[in-house]
Amino acid sequence: MELDPPVKLPVSDCLLSDAINQSKDCAVSHGFVFRTFENPTSSDTVMCGPHALLPAPIPRKYFHQLADVQIYINELLYLISKDYDFIRETLKSAAVSDDFTGRLLKILETILEEGIADAGVLALLRSDYLLDGSTDEMLPKMVEINTIASSLGAVTTNLTLVHRYTTQLLGGRCDVEKSLPTNNHIEKYSKAFVKAWEVYNTPKAAIVFVVSTTERNVFDQRLLEFEVKKINWDIPVKRITLLDIGSKGKLSGDRRLIVDGTEVAIVYYRDGYVPSHFKSETEWNAVLLAARSRAICCPNVSLHLAGTKKVQQAIAKPGMVERFISNPDKVKAIRATFTGQYSLDIGAEGDKAIAMAIASPEKFVMKPNKEGGGNNIYGVDIRTKLLEIQNTSERNAYILMDRIFPVTVPGYKVVSSTELPKLQNMVSEFGMFGALVSDKNDVVLNEYSGHLVRTKVNGVDEGGVAAGASALDTPFLI
Ligand code: ADP
Ligand code: MG
Repeated sequence: MELDPPVKLPVSDCLLSDAINQSKDCAVSHGFVFRTFENPTSSDTVMCGPHALLPAPIPRKYFHQLADVQIYINELLYLISKDYDFIRETLKSAAVSDDFTGRLLKILETILEEGIADAGVLALLRSDYLLDGSTDEMLPKMVEINTIASSLGAVTTNLTLVHRYTTQLLGGRCDVEKSLPTNNHIEKYSKAFVKAWEVYNTPKAAIVFVVSTTERNVFDQRLLEFEVKKINWDIPVKRITLLDIGSKGKLSGDRRLIVDGTEVAIVYYRDGYVPSHFKSETEWNAVLLAARSRAICCPNVSLHLAGTKKVQQAIAKPGMVERFISNPDKVKAIRATFTGQYSLDIGAEGDKAIAMAIASPEKFVMKPNKEGGGNNIYGVDIRTKLLEIQNTSERNAYILMDRIFPVTVPGYKVVSSTELPKLQNMVSEFGMFGALVSDKNDVVLNEYSGHLVRTKVNGVDEGGVAAGASALDTPFLI
């Protein structure tokens, strides 16, 4: 299934070249920039982010449907994260062969034994969807829900304006504004930070962004920091590494987290979500220390675990959303976005799924219990991998998912190059951000918080922006 782009394509080389230059100027003028690959520790040189020249079409009703369902998804993930037995039960088989999951579970066990101290919850999520191109309806189908370091929403905010400009430049309709929804991600996420900081309720305590020192995507983080300051200049906002927390952090008698003399109200992880972020035990000490403290970790360890592929596969089973959410309308709305997911765990159910995948590997995606892109297995590689691991416990660390064959749209990708891009068939992944804040007892904020689109060339399996496969994009409502 193919959708028409917002303007008639292809365009002449001359027009394309001009549009690309203008698009880059407009993007850079509005802060759509990243640090360079050569110098990821400094802001002395920056580069325009990779982006689609034109916005990505999505039926208007689906865009609103996904924005509306986000608050139910926030609630679902929040409730899952409170069900420690469910999380433990769902992940115990994976923990045997997946050390990263195992360590996080161990931290959860430790804090459950000690008694959970945190002052509340700050959940900043993003649900990602593809439009299923296998039927005329083009229904949106969920790829995953991210519960940690859901990024790129802030830096892409002004891409809406860039796309308004490029669409008009290339002869798009003049009522284009109605098709390009404003993205209030920065305001919404910053509001959630401030709300969670108020829940912590200690004026001198800081909101801490846990970051890597080599971060190309630094402005995406900084825009949120600056916006928090704009809301309340008295809130201390700091950037700290896991290594700093692990080596200099300590807990006070009443389990306040103190790093370098600063009390920490919020620990916002933009690092620490893949094994390679943990170079030594010191980084793990940081996560353990923060988890044991009164500080509100975003995410806390159980919410982090709730975002794993294994938990999401478990939730997709019949009756499981209902376990957490009683309102049938909410359940229906969430379920409508799901696609089939199957356990590969040792046992009869897993054996059945393995047989199914070996027989028709092209119909599935095999996912390890990992984050960060570039991990999934597709096509005949699924068969090879399953034949290799089917008699080992390693299979427990994967899940199987129905492959979505997304709608394609012809388009151009604007990257840092002097060569003109080719017109290619693109697929877009639509991300919906959500924010939820609770104190010890009640949810005090639950919102949809803006969106993100990532577009890649059709046929490229993985969609990472950092890895260079994806271009950032915006939705064009049709
Ligand atoms: P990660 O945590 O690595 O981001 P994802 O589940 O988002 O894991 O998978 C990475 C990419 O793989 C997605 O961005 C999407 O392009 C592709 N993908 C994931 N699941 C499916 C699926 N069921 N069908 C088709 N493509 C998928
Ligand atoms: Mg993903």
